[in-house]
Amino acid sequence: PVRVRFAPSPTGPLHSGGVRTALYNYLFARQQGGQMLLRIEDTDQTRYVPGAEEYILESLAWLGIDIDEGPHVGGPHAPYRQSDRKPMYRQYAEQLVLEGKAYYAFDTPEELDAMRKRLEEAKVPAAQYNAITRMQMTNSLTLPIDETKARIESGEPFVIRIKVQPKDDIRFNDLIRGWVVVHSSQVDDKVLLKSDGMPTYHLANIVDDHLMGITHVIRGEEWLPSAPMHVLLYKYLGWADTMPQFAHLPLLLKPDGNGKLSKRDADLGGFPIFPLQWTDPKTGEKALGFREEGYYPEATANFLAFLGWNPGTEQELFSMQELIEAFSFERVHKAGAKFDIQKAMWFNQQYLKHKDDATMAAQVQPIFAKKGIHISDEQAIQIVHLLKDRVHFVHEIVSESEFLFSAPQRYEEEIVSKKWNDDARRGISAFAEALATTEGPFLAENFKHLLSQTLEAAGIKMGKIMQMLRVAITGVGAGPDLMITMEILGRQEVIGRLKKALV
Ligand code: GLU
Repeated sequence: PVRVRFAPSPTGPLHSGGVRTALYNYLFARQQGGQMLLRIEDTDQTRYVPGAEEYILESLAWLGIDIDEGPHVGGPHAPYRQSDRKPMYRQYAEQLVLEGKAYYAFDTPEELDAMRKRLEEAKVPAAQYNAITRMQMTNSLTLPIDETKARIESGEPFVIRIKVQPKDDIRFNDLIRGWVVVHSSQVDDKVLLKSDGMPTYHLANIVDDHLMGITHVIRGEEWLPSAPMHVLLYKYLGWADTMPQFAHLPLLLKPDGNGKLSKRDADLGGFPIFPLQWTDPKTGEKALGFREEGYYPEATANFLAFLGWNPGTEQELFSMQELIEAFSFERVHKAGAKFDIQKAMWFNQQYLKHKDDATMAAQVQPIFAKKGIHISDEQAIQIVHLLKDRVHFVHEIVSESEFLFSAPQRYEEEIVSKKWNDDARRGISAFAEALATTEGPFLAENFKHLLSQTLEAAGIKMGKIMQMLRVAITGVGAGPDLMITMEILGRQEVIGRLKKALV
């Protein structure tokens, strides 16, 4: 059975790239009838940020990404938080030492610095800690066993490093990129176990993926450079047969396509790149969230799914179920995906159009109430109906409907100067009069008639005065359906506004 995992490090808010990784994992798991795990990779405790794990859980729940096993729901491979699994990793690093595939290293930070400098001076390209540089160092590798033992026993700090063979080709088949072949000279002798006894990301990640029976590792392209080392670790640990398949997802790029999307892009553009609002616990700085900006979770998921994947058809609107059915690695792009907030807004607008008025009415009422405006259910439905085709977000219905609650203070200059003529005055005055003297319910369909009758009697063409009528009622020359606007305003208000304009 397919088993995938989303393995974030709780170092801050999950950004769109991370959420998209989780989404693709989820789509693939559901499509294959498999399981989706959440594993919290918090071995680097210096980078731990309080609240980040909760943020991750809340984000996934908001988007409808259900987790089958994880720290919050448990599962057969619990615990799912790496800091709770700490004692499990060391044995594997030690096993590799015994087999000659890893070694103790006692280099102090000063020695490592000195090595780096030496390599720089010697102009060694892409300086690495590897077979060649090992020789130029205090060289833990060639220490006699006795000395190694003695130094460990004396309490000297050490790390365990993987020993990469100098002449080796490492290859694996990526589901998106095809065959990847890397020469081992490009691969570092990475630290597996740190001096505090904690595993590094690399060791913990491989050990856990193996123990948790992961079949597919689906993650961002930034991990592609680590993949050869991971493949090597599977081999060294004797797990090559059950090594998961890799799929490295394209990067998310800045809106202009220039470079990786970063938090700063959001700050500058005033749009969200995070699923939920985030307040940095140290600085108090806030980052916008899709949820708080008024995006629907379905629209957000749909938007994220298209950042790096396409269905191969014209269809753009996909429910989660449809995404699950349509997803495939063949259609995941290799090139980076531009983060296009306009597109996100477009998706939201599409989903908004399809919501029923009553549901949206219930959502706008509290937003109105915050502004001190209390409206009935019926009014809310009317307002939603009037404005829903003109907005991207529910809250825009509120901001766009200000003209319903206060009469215009000024009239759009350009239109007034062109259209405010005798005919307009006469027509609007006659219409105001007609409204005041007719009985019956004040409904759009009724006064449509009334308006054409009145104007006909006065010998004025409707087209000549319509825009001015709108300006008289709303202050501006363009807006939603005027007749329905009048119906919402009610008889007294409309007559009052017309009279005021005529003064
Ligand atoms: N902890 C890594 C991250 O934060 C996981 C990478 C992986 O999926 O292997 O992205």
